[in-house]
Amino acid sequence: MTASTEKFTRQALLDVQPVTANLFTLRTTRDAGFRFRAGQFARLGVTKADGSTVWRAYSMVSSPFDEFLEFFSIVVPGGEFTSELSRLQVGDTLLVGRQAFGYLTLDRFVDGRDLWLLSTGTGVAPFLSILQDFEVWEKFERIILVYSVREARELAYQSLIAELTQREYLQEYAHKFRFIPTVTREEHPGALNGRITLLIENGELERRAGVSLTPEHSRVMLCGNPQMIGDTRALLKRRGMSLSLSRRPGQVAVENYW
Ligand code: FAD
Repeated sequence: MTASTEKFTRQALLDVQPVTANLFTLRTTRDAGFRFRAGQFARLGVTKADGSTVWRAYSMVSSPFDEFLEFFSIVVPGGEFTSELSRLQVGDTLLVGRQAFGYLTLDRFVDGRDLWLLSTGTGVAPFLSILQDFEVWEKFERIILVYSVREARELAYQSLIAELTQREYLQEYAHKFRFIPTVTREEHPGALNGRITLLIENGELERRAGVSLTPEHSRVMLCGNPQMIGDTRALLKRRGMSLSLSRRPGQVAVENYW
């Protein structure tokens, strides 16, 4: 097979940054032909010592307009893919599937006033891509990013989130944005304490956002831990919110990471 007919391209690692012992960010070159919508994921491949290749899905953190690709990764102890990925260094090669996939994109919603982006751990990745894209700021009146981690030191991309609305092209939209970090295993200044589901049930999330979750106005994206997604979907269903499908537009869009 020639390079041009392969289903993937070879990209070079430009930067690797540890966040904690089990979390890191990585940046690669981007093939000029690789197109995606903010919120989508790519298939990444690493070649093992025995010559075989392991593939996994990874959401893009970077915006569709960036010249590079950025990803945010967990390291699963003994994990087949992440054990290899976490060994890579600047200059090494990462395989990137030619096609992007996924429906955690703004076109899931035909209407809505407030966009809630609810994430656990690395599930914040697609939301960072969405927030760096212009479309979301024009489409919604309020945008609430909820980022849940166990310990505060796991909160990645704090400077990106803080400087987002300082960017020249987004400054006029800064008033629309609420960032709500939540930490489940410790108290942390400025963060809510507790799981997303608890914070919805006890009303704390809506109080902090200064806006209610309603079928009429809210559109909710969920990403990360399947348990959080399942439990939150059930809670939202009781409030009259259902999955948004192309044949039946609704209020909720999800991406389970495992
Ligand atoms: P696996 O054998 O794949 O997983 C082993 C176990 O580790 C899982 O059963 C689960 O319990 C746990 N686990 C897997 N992924 C995570 C995670 N992200 N956070 C916490 N626990 C996890 N992972 C990322 O780190 N960043 C991403 O942007 C990302 N995007 C994804 C997008 C999609 C659409 C999907 C389906 C998955 C995504 N994942 C992402 C998960 C990723 O594909 C792999 O599962 C992960 O890299 C672990 O691979 P592994 O082979 O080391 O372990």
